[in-house]
Amino acid sequence: MTKKIAVLAGDGIGPEIVDEAIKVLEALAKDGLDIELAYGLIGGAAYDETGTPLPDETIEISKSADAILLGAVGGYKWESLDISVRPEKGLLGIRSQLNLFANLRPAILYPQLADASTLKSEVVAGLDLMIVRELTGGIYFGQPRGIRTLENGEKEGFNTLVYRESEIQRIGKVAFDIAQKRQGRLCSVDKANVLESTELWRETMTDMAENYSDVELSHMYVDNAAMQLVRAPKQFDVMVTTNMFGDILSDCASMLTGSIGMLPSASLDESGKGMYEPIHGSAPDIAGQNIANPLATILSASMMLRYTLDEPAMADRIEAAVSKVLDQGLRTADIYSEGMTKVGTSEMGDAVVAAL
Ligand code: NAD
Repeated sequence: MTKKIAVLAGDGIGPEIVDEAIKVLEALAKDGLDIELAYGLIGGAAYDETGTPLPDETIEISKSADAILLGAVGGYKWESLDISVRPEKGLLGIRSQLNLFANLRPAILYPQLADASTLKSEVVAGLDLMIVRELTGGIYFGQPRGIRTLENGEKEGFNTLVYRESEIQRIGKVAFDIAQKRQGRLCSVDKANVLESTELWRETMTDMAENYSDVELSHMYVDNAAMQLVRAPKQFDVMVTTNMFGDILSDCASMLTGSIGMLPSASLDESGKGMYEPIHGSAPDIAGQNIANPLATILSASMMLRYTLDEPAMADRIEAAVSKVLDQGLRTADIYSEGMTKVGTSEMGDAVVAAL
């Protein structure tokens, strides 16, 4: 059956990098990948054309699609706009409209790029870790919240960290399922020694493990997890954690790789439908110059094939092709080092297509 992909290129380097991912998908279409693309506006580009960063048409296209491929939004041009119509509102809006509660952030360091990390190359070379972050619950959304004035006139800020069992179970299911597709090791990160909400988190994950005999579940306190991520990150296969812990740990993990232009991400809903995007922003400083690295977006397309479109062999082909172009010594400016061949955005996309 034809799978429909909504393509939202956005702003800055968004259109350039998305074009390269489309090239790759179209090359696979010639080999039998059955897809149909529908294009929509988002972010500053949508504001300029329609007066809103998230037009209704974009929401409709995205809701009716099986998966969404997003570039990035934002840029200098729109920074002085009222916050309600800033490009970033478009992104937050589409995430909540689609109820994307599971954020998947792989941190992969291709051995060819081990020198790009600030850590010693033997610590990170070959790193392949997946962080599964709960995205729509926890302390970022819990009620009550606010800043109040106490009787003595002092101000007090407060937030609520709350997780229902069903919320933990649905993110747990995503993480266990992914661990099954990888090396079968899942580390659940919490602070169960001091926070009751994560004591329930730990209990729930432990209960769920009974139904996943092929997954080895371990638990780690978040402070130790932060330390282990920079000490010996290759010990992890899949990590699952709360919204706030995941926010911090996933940024830490992405920097282990040293190259923001290489990392894809996915946000999934309960049915497995997802929005796929590079972790970086719209990079307005280099937009329109054909120098942005398109590999994070190409790898986002690969994640889309693996996790939503159920085409793991096609995903494998993209990942192997990316590895091959790196072996050939091709580098965009952000990952360039001496002795390599510097290429532009479109040349990199062409090279991946050729390597497929
Ligand atoms: P950024 O990720 O856009 O850029 C940070 C630095 O990394 C820049 O020097 C940029 O040139 C470089 N960079 C990023 N992607 C690259 C790539 N593919 N190839 C080569 N170099 C790359 O972050 P920023 O500068 O903080 O933000 C710029 C704009 O992007 C802002 O408007 C911000 O709001 C927006 N933003 C959007 C998203 C998103 O759409 N998901 C995420 C983060 C930031």
